[in-house]
Amino acid sequence: GRRLYKVGAMTQRTLVLLKPDAVKRGQVGEIIRRIEAKGYALVAVELRTATPEVLAEHYAEHEGKPFYQPLVDFMLSGPVVAIVLEGERCIEGFRSLAGATDPTAAAPGTVRGDLGRDWGLKVQQNLVHGSDSPESAEREIGIWFPAL
Ligand code: UDP
Repeated sequence: GRRLYKVGAMTQRTLVLLKPDAVKRGQVGEIIRRIEAKGYALVAVELRTATPEVLAEHYAEHEGKPFYQPLVDFMLSGPVVAIVLEGERCIEGFRSLAGATDPTAAAPGTVRGDLGRDWGLKVQQNLVHGSDSPESAEREIGIWFPAL
C-alpha cells in the first residue's frame, strides 16, 4: 500500500542561511536552538557577509524574476549566518521547521510562522534559507563552504 513515511538510512547535509533580518532582529540563537532541539548536528556555523558573486551563484535559478534584485540587495544588507546541518532527511526536515516562503502564510510553530511577518517590501524577509533537494544541497554547500 501507500507509504506514509520513509524508513532507512538517509543521512543528508543541507545548507541553511540565517538571513540578514534574522541577524538584525537578534533571532540567531532562537533559530539555532530550534535546529538543535530537532536533533540535527551543526557541521559548520559562520557569520559571513555575502558577496554579489556568491549570491549570483546561490540564486541563479531566480535570475530575471521580479524579486531577484530586491532579494540580492536584501541578502547584501548585513551579515548572514551560513550553516551546514547533518542528519537523517535534514533537507526536508529543515524546510519543515522553516515553514512556507511567505511568512504571513507560514504555519505557527515554524520559524517563519512564529518569528516572521510581511513588512510591505518587494522581497519576503523570511529569516532563513534551506536547500530544497539533495542536488541543491550539494551545489549550495559547494558555493558557501568549498572546503567541506
Ligand atoms: N522570494 C520573494 N518573493 C517571491 C518568491 C521568493 O521575495 O515571490 C524570496 C524569498 O526571500 C525566498 C527567496 O526569494 O526565500 C527564494 O525563493 P524560493 O522560492 O526558493 O523560496 P524558499 O525556498 O526560500 O522558501
